[in-house]
Amino acid sequence: MASVKEQLIENVSPDETVSQRKITIIGSGAVGMACAISVLLKDLTDELALIDVVEEKLKGETMDLQHGSLFLNTRKIISGKDYALSANSKLVIVTAGARQQEGETRLSLVQRNVNIMKSIIPSVVQHSPQCNILVVSNPVDVLTYVVWKISGLPVARVIGSGCNLDSARFRYLIGEKLGIHPTSCHGWVLGEHGDSSVPIWSGVNIAGVPLKVLNPQLGTDSDKEKWKHIHKQVVQSAYEVIKLKGYTSWAIGLSVADMSATILKNLRRVHPVSTIIKGLYGIKEEVFLSVPCVLGQGGVSDIVKVKLNSEEENLLKKSADTLWNVQKDLSI
Ligand code: NAD
Repeated sequence: MASVKEQLIENVSPDETVSQRKITIIGSGAVGMACAISVLLKDLTDELALIDVVEEKLKGETMDLQHGSLFLNTRKIISGKDYALSANSKLVIVTAGARQQEGETRLSLVQRNVNIMKSIIPSVVQHSPQCNILVVSNPVDVLTYVVWKISGLPVARVIGSGCNLDSARFRYLIGEKLGIHPTSCHGWVLGEHGDSSVPIWSGVNIAGVPLKVLNPQLGTDSDKEKWKHIHKQVVQSAYEVIKLKGYTSWAIGLSVADMSATILKNLRRVHPVSTIIKGLYGIKEEVFLSVPCVLGQGGVSDIVKVKLNSEEENLLKKSADTLWNVQKDLSI
């Protein structure tokens, strides 16, 4: 007797469609899964692949997402430890690796995560030679350099999530102080993601009104309104959230989905992401730091040359020195 499917369905042509907007996420921990739910809810992909070495947890996470398919518009969610599953990805988001322990700095994670990148990136590139790679694992600026070196991809296509999250935190906190939604609070945190990041107070504005014109001491120690404290809070954010809940996940997931939208839809929006900045601001080494970058389907197409004052430029150079001192001794 013919099966229900055979009785119900007359096949007209085989389903051999190739995904046009495939995203792979490497690492299905707290950050990887926050990225997954964020890209799914934004309808960014027609096929999502999740890769991790811990197979049971990965299977559980995948089933849990698949069971939500009724409420999503992504046809295929697949997972496993075989990189063949990631083939033909347009965007690969790397979140695998050790995370900071309470009180641990991002830079002290470095060699552990370099070794993990060495085990991941060659397979990623083998199966998706045309992809963009978005590096999220920490220390993100150093690892973006490492991934670029290992991958052999053009530098434009290896992007670090960098200060996209720091800038989001900055804008949220400015918004809280003024009672204005963060999308209307414009301001950029550049340089290293984390401890030596640089707030560009000269550019902070609401509706084109620079706050520094209203309060020339903005962001300095002599400012009575203590705006500088906002940047201190940005730097402390991750440590505080980790102390309270063990890890950070939602904000980075949402910020990754925002960057992914720009890349996959070729929007050419400007994001503070980590790219090679050798030759800019007097920086001579091959370091990756966040500057405002135009993002699209080819990755970073342009860098916006922000006019920094001498103090900001010195801080950026100091960030570059800190990173180079870590990078130069790595075994890649
Ligand atoms: P986690 O421990 O929850 O998850 C890491 C996952 O990576 C685990 O599931 C683990 O099994 C997997 N993994 C380890 N080695 C692997 C390998 N060789 N191949 C595939 N998978 C592997 O950690 P998390 O909280 O999800 O954080 C992940 C990373 O993201 C950390 O480095 C963290 O510091 C970083 N992070 C970055 C930002 C940012 O703004 N850039 C923000 C938050 C966290």
